[in-house]
Amino acid sequence: MHVKLFIPGPTEVREDVLKEMSRPIIGHRTKDMSDLYERIHNNLQKFFNTQNEVMVFTASGTGMMEGSIRNTVQNDVLHLTNGSFSERWFEISKANGKNAEAIKYEWGKAAKTKDVEEKFKSMNYEGIALTHNETSTGVRTPIDDFSKLSHEYNSLLLVDAVSSLGGDLIDVNKADVIFAPTQKSFGLPPGLVIVFISPKAMEKARSVKSRGYYFDFISMKKYYDEKRQIPATPSISLFYALDYQLEKMIKEGMEARYRRHKQMASMVQKWASDNFALFAEPGYESVTVTTVSNSRNINVDEMNKALKARWMSISNGYGKLREKTFRIAHMGDITPTEIKELLETIDEIITVKP
Ligand SMILES: *Cc1c(COP(=O)(O)O)cnc(C)c1O
Repeated sequence: MHVKLFIPGPTEVREDVLKEMSRPIIGHRTKDMSDLYERIHNNLQKFFNTQNEVMVFTASGTGMMEGSIRNTVQNDVLHLTNGSFSERWFEISKANGKNAEAIKYEWGKAAKTKDVEEKFKSMNYEGIALTHNETSTGVRTPIDDFSKLSHEYNSLLLVDAVSSLGGDLIDVNKADVIFAPTQKSFGLPPGLVIVFISPKAMEKARSVKSRGYYFDFISMKKYYDEKRQIPATPSISLFYALDYQLEKMIKEGMEARYRRHKQMASMVQKWASDNFALFAEPGYESVTVTTVSNSRNINVDEMNKALKARWMSISNGYGKLREKTFRIAHMGDITPTEIKELLETIDEIITVKP
């Protein structure tokens, strides 16, 4: 037995996926490794229905928050912040010496295009940095209208889809850079980050100075085009797992995977509204994680302890929302049956100990 994770990353990983990682290591400059990377590359394009560049870096999501900025922004970038992760991204741009500005929304709210339009009236930004699924608040900001806007202004749309890509239905072709690590909606262990890059963003990267070394899109592409290789040693074990999982994901299909996530989200949202309240701005609820307002003021730590004794775990609120909310993730390979079990178990715990 182990504690099943209903936390918004890292998520539960199936036993068969974990087993894939115990295969013998191969050299990273071998034909076998090139074949493996090429298959992953092609299957990522296939699952996400895109011809955009796709790259797999050995890093967590935060790595690509930095990499995306370094590759595509020389000076000016506009961040839309509505929670902890979008605020982190804003900090990252500043830490990299960019001229970063932010439209700051209250936690729980979604970003709106009209505010971006307003900003562009007085200033041009090379990039708009948007967090599709704010995991700290359970808020989902759809990207379609932002995509149109970025085209209109000849700006690049950079999207953190860390906790939604692979679960939610997202057209990656609508973003110039969009990324997610393996440990959230892909249902894999942490350690890799997947990024899709539009031709426009690749072209921009060529002109950007000081892209850095490790996350350089241009050298990544050159290695892939010429040798089907990666400049640095990748986490080969995780590549095995990703390769295996992608086949399962393709078999399930993007739409079906989305419907499963949507069904789980509806179950948790209904349960949350019946028993507590939903934290997210109405109409912008995440498909992969639900933030519940702790309107009954229960002791979340106690509840989680009781849950752990029953081999399940959910999350506290994030940062300043630690006591005010709690979060239930329904992402990756978790099923509606497991969500039903979880909700019934929480019901049991809170009726005994209100
Ligand atoms: C988890 C998360 C991150 C950070 O990803 P790491 O893999 O932990 O570095 C960034 N953005 C969002 C929206 C996240 O959920």
